[in-house]
Amino acid sequence: VSIQTTSKQYDVWIGEHVINQLHSFIQRKFVDVTKILIITDESVKKLHLKTVEKELSSLPVVTYTVPAGEKAKSFDVFYACLTYMLEQHLDRKSLVLALGGGAVGDLAGYVAASFMRGIPFIQIPTTVLAHDSAVGGKVAINHPLGKNMIGVFNQPEAVVYDTTFLSTLPIQELRSGFGEVIKHALISNSQFYQELTIKISDLSKVKVAYWSEILEKGILVKRAIVEKDERESNIRAFLNFGHTLGHAIEAEMGYGKFTHGEAVVIGMIFALRLSKQKYDLAFSIEEYIKWLKLLGYTCDIPGNLEIDSLINRMKQDKKSINGSIRFVLLKELGYPVLVEMDEEEIRKELVLFKGGK
Ligand code: NAD
Ligand code: ZN
Repeated sequence: VSIQTTSKQYDVWIGEHVINQLHSFIQRKFVDVTKILIITDESVKKLHLKTVEKELSSLPVVTYTVPAGEKAKSFDVFYACLTYMLEQHLDRKSLVLALGGGAVGDLAGYVAASFMRGIPFIQIPTTVLAHDSAVGGKVAINHPLGKNMIGVFNQPEAVVYDTTFLSTLPIQELRSGFGEVIKHALISNSQFYQELTIKISDLSKVKVAYWSEILEKGILVKRAIVEKDERESNIRAFLNFGHTLGHAIEAEMGYGKFTHGEAVVIGMIFALRLSKQKYDLAFSIEEYIKWLKLLGYTCDIPGNLEIDSLINRMKQDKKSINGSIRFVLLKELGYPVLVEMDEEEIRKELVLFKGGK
């Protein structure tokens, strides 16, 4: 898949063993590369670093390992990474490889953007979720006052998405990433959504070849949007379908309790409820929930979460303007719209949703 944004053109290779293309790509594109820094996390290091190192043998590679999960996206880790790069004498002709999920990709992309005013980086995603995060060029770390608050737009030189890495993912991570696949299906067209509901009833049984197929479809949806609106001045916001409430749930639960995609799935159910109410969306939410439950998703708002706290979180969302709450709704499957919603309207529906009505 080739991505053409206003700032850069780059390719996404997706499939089994595409990692075997990495060495020749680097030799072709970075003829005089001085050093290659692999940034990875503790878990991915144990499982997949060797494969990548083997592919790159004969090249000047060093590795920096960060904590697994959201902890990677902190100021401390960001700083430590840059320190390591200076110690290892990386320079403007060096290259960063992000080997891991969305957390590693977001951190490494921001590190690469900051080091000596920016050196190139390549995404090597290892999670299902990263079909979303590795494409599109948003990179960021977290601030104690808000997730992803400190970052830039920085497109990679390439995305090398070897789906054989996915075979070691725990079910919860498959579920998290698949939440974003469902999102891409619902905002793009009903065939993609139908296909998923027909073909997938157990995420742990999805074959690597089929992951390649649906992740490519997901990436094509993201590409279509990002190519038209790289910097989120308008339609890129459609990618936040399910995220307004999803982010609020994630934050209120405390990161790590719920994965990102699991929270987004609940957010999408809510956005679909609002869409039905506002636009009479023809879609069976009951059938949808039945399928989600079969896949092991939580489909309601956890009982300990307060409506007021969720609403306050939604108002703090960085997409919210002047305290109003912006939702992506669907007029039809594949026809998203961005609407400013009245707080009371949302509260009413949220009370019903939480009450199981
Ligand atoms: P992650 O990188 O934290 O990975 C999830 C967990 O899976 C980690 O514990 C990791 O060690 C482990 N893991 C990774 N690959 C593995 C493998 N192949 N086998 C076994 N375990 C493996 O997170 P994620 O779920 O990939 O991504 C979430 C992050 O992505 C969040 O920080 C979110 O903000 C960000 N994100 C960014 C964008 C964007 O556009 N930049 C979009 C969506 C999400
Ligand atoms: Zn998301």
